[in-house]
Amino acid sequence: MMKKIGFIGLGIMGKPMSKNLIKAGFQLIVSDFNKDAVSELAQLGAEVETTPKAIAEKADIVITMLPNSPNVKAVALGENGLIEGAREGLIYVDMSSIAPAASQEVYGALIEKGVEMLDAPVSGGEPKAIDGTISVMVGGKKEVFAEVQDVLAAMAGSVVHVGEIGAGNVTKLANQIIVALNIAAVSEAFVLAQKAGVNPEAVYQAIRGGLAGSTVLDAKAPMMLDRNFNPGFRINLHIKDLTNAMETSHEFGSPAPLTAAVLEMMYTLKGDGHEFDDHSSLLKYYEKLANVEISR
Ligand code: NAD
Repeated sequence: MMKKIGFIGLGIMGKPMSKNLIKAGFQLIVSDFNKDAVSELAQLGAEVETTPKAIAEKADIVITMLPNSPNVKAVALGENGLIEGAREGLIYVDMSSIAPAASQEVYGALIEKGVEMLDAPVSGGEPKAIDGTISVMVGGKKEVFAEVQDVLAAMAGSVVHVGEIGAGNVTKLANQIIVALNIAAVSEAFVLAQKAGVNPEAVYQAIRGGLAGSTVLDAKAPMMLDRNFNPGFRINLHIKDLTNAMETSHEFGSPAPLTAAVLEMMYTLKGDGHEFDDHSSLLKYYEKLANVEISR
């Protein structure tokens, strides 16, 4: 029989991801505070429930796609949470980007009720969530991963098991550190080029095929040159991820001086009202320091 999947959190990412599960033929039970998103899924055939408890009672697998650790803890362990509807054999897959320690805490509580859990955050953003090509990094037991691999594959272009519970979110933090520092480096370099009288577009074209070339450069340089700072990935979400990265770095005694610096840049941008802009607006931080605006 086809697995019944609960899906909680129908935001920028969760809505298209859940639609891809319906397209793949899975039966869905959904919930979100956002009534419009819920009715959109209901029109596509999803069943609707209002509490995680009710969803846990009915589903074989429950997926969440929520903003941060407190939201996941509330949905999993809070009043009317998954834990209240939990039964032996239920599998919980949290696909939100949260602190690895929070994943381990939720797992510790759920396993007492016989519920297995995977942390499976994603990268790729809204366009890849829509066309089903996100990358998923999965932590948890290998045999549990094997049971849900088909479900994850229906939403993703790549699904990689990276270790025990929490390893998915450690991998996502690594991803977010690399992306943030890369965008800061591109910003620093483009502002230097502008100040020195060299067209940043020419710099981009000259270096993109060399060692400095990257997916980040190809995604963000055109946005910077177009002065298009529409998200994409918002500064406030990246502040959340880098804050989790700093906490996790401190917890393991692994210093993160560059992450700390870029986090402060992002807080400066937030103070200037850019928290809902794309993270490529790190460029504006450097432009303000150098009192210049880059142009083609
Ligand atoms: P979002 O804010 O658009 O969506 C979150 C949804 O969760 C909202 O619709 C909200 O109403 C719902 N929600 C919150 N608490 C709830 C509860 N208790 N019950 C039911 N619904 C609840 O966020 P998003 O952009 O979809 O991101 C989700 C996660 O994915 C975040 O951890 C983010 O960092 C990560 N992520 C986002 C992107 C991106 O480009 N947006 C890319 C990769 C990963």
